[in-house]
Amino acid sequence: MRFSAVWNILLRCSAILFFSGCEKTLQFDGEKAFSETEALVKIVPRNAGSGGARRAAVHLESRLKAFGLKTAMDTFSEETPSGKMFFNNVLGHLPGKTNRLIVLASHFDTKSGIAPDFQGANDSGSSSGVLMELARVLAEHAPFKTGFLVAFLDGEECRTEYGPHDGLHGSRRLAQRIFDADDAKRVEAVIVLDMVGDNDLKISVPRNSHRGLVKELFAAAHETGVRSQFSLGTGSVLDDHVPFQIAGMPAVDIIDFEYGSAPGLNDYWHTPEDTLDKLSVQSLQTVGAVILRMVENLQ
Ligand SMILES: [Zn+2]
Repeated sequence: MRFSAVWNILLRCSAILFFSGCEKTLQFDGEKAFSETEALVKIVPRNAGSGGARRAAVHLESRLKAFGLKTAMDTFSEETPSGKMFFNNVLGHLPGKTNRLIVLASHFDTKSGIAPDFQGANDSGSSSGVLMELARVLAEHAPFKTGFLVAFLDGEECRTEYGPHDGLHGSRRLAQRIFDADDAKRVEAVIVLDMVGDNDLKISVPRNSHRGLVKELFAAAHETGVRSQFSLGTGSVLDDHVPFQIAGMPAVDIIDFEYGSAPGLNDYWHTPEDTLDKLSVQSLQTVGAVILRMVENLQ
């Protein structure tokens, strides 16, 4: 009898340990991420400088506020090949227990000149939906050891050709602000999401991503059971992670740059075909769960 009493206590303790262990694992909801994507891509088009982009920024800020993040709208102007343009970065902050910081980012603007009702569902709706759901989950469980800066970046798309005055406006602006505030050394990781909603999800991490963060990403994908959908790409990509790297921060770009009607094709990208029906809740779920695991591991 004594043995069974001890056994009972052991069982109970292990159950408590098991469940408290479960509580530590954050739960990402792919359906909620999809709803956030859907709400954003109703605002068409969202090319930088347009009324749609401004409405999208206001919408994103109100969602962040609803989840309890401290928000800021950083409105700035820059010269572009189309003249002086205004941009809006939407920022949400979750303070941490230390001064270390993780930046989670997605652009929310769409490529200009595609169509008057261009959704940009995958590019930039999908990553924005995942980022918003990440903000919800993280806000619910904050504070963590690290703080989080959730950044919806404007002006990623170029007007004509990427250069110092064309494209990556929002990321250059935010990286510069972090650098100027002497905060770059506090940044543990910059995790950029782009085009993550394709049904046939194959994340191919550009080689110009931080090696340590790529390892962390692959470990998190392994622990989440989806390692086969993540690989190292064959080349470099110019995306929003680059300005952060130039400013001295470790950054990784999580992108599936193959979005088309058949494997290997990219024929939906930057066309009116980039619509919500091409996206998959499961893909948003997969990416979101991996990022959550990754940031948990970075605590
Ligand atoms: Zn694009």
